[in-house]
Amino acid sequence: MRQRILVVEDEPSIAENITYALETEQFEFLWCTTAQAGLEAWRLGHFDLAILDVGLPDMDGFEVCREIRKSSTMPIIFLTARETEIDRVVGLEMGGDDYVVKPFSPRELTARVKAVLRRTVVPESATVAPEADALKQRSRAVLRIDEERMEIHYHGKKLELTRYEYRLLLALAKSPGRVWTRMQLMEQAWEEPDTAMERTVDAHIKTLRAKLRQACPDADDPIRTHRGTGYSVREH
Ligand code: CA
Repeated sequence: MRQRILVVEDEPSIAENITYALETEQFEFLWCTTAQAGLEAWRLGHFDLAILDVGLPDMDGFEVCREIRKSSTMPIIFLTARETEIDRVVGLEMGGDDYVVKPFSPRELTARVKAVLRRTVVPESATVAPEADALKQRSRAVLRIDEERMEIHYHGKKLELTRYEYRLLLALAKSPGRVWTRMQLMEQAWEEPDTAMERTVDAHIKTLRAKLRQACPDADDPIRTHRGTGYSVREH
């Protein structure tokens, strides 16, 4: 099946270059000129990846990305025009998977599209695409959720999780920064939560941390403990 790409770019000449290149590479695409139209299309259809221009007439591409990230881990590539935008993409980890700086060649963009799809669609292969240098690696999400396969990847490595560990980490990772109480986490992970079982959350968090550490020994622990309250996943 051909992969579908959502293109949100207000400049027709740039969009034409992009869509021509995507077509040549056998991708299907939908082109939108505003953020609103892009979000609408994303809500209604299935896409394998989105290419978002940062400078859009109604809201910027980062806001579009934030909106999408509330419920989806679909890969996103930003098109950036200015140095300040690049700084934000790289420094603040806006939730995108990669970025391309204007002006770019259509060939460069499709190479990035393929590289991002390779590492997200077939995450089992831990190989890093040659196009991805150290700088771009930093802009990748630390935790990547694949809800259809019920899998979570940490720094590109698939975690072997039990059902409860998966549900706990899924809840935490879907809203980075949010502090969850043990009771709230139990409601997310167990069908019939029981206050007497609150310590079970701690036990599962402990095994989760061990698995995260094993997958990536040098990385900082993404889970934070909030004494007397519960847990959260770090925002950055
Ligand atoms: Ca623009």
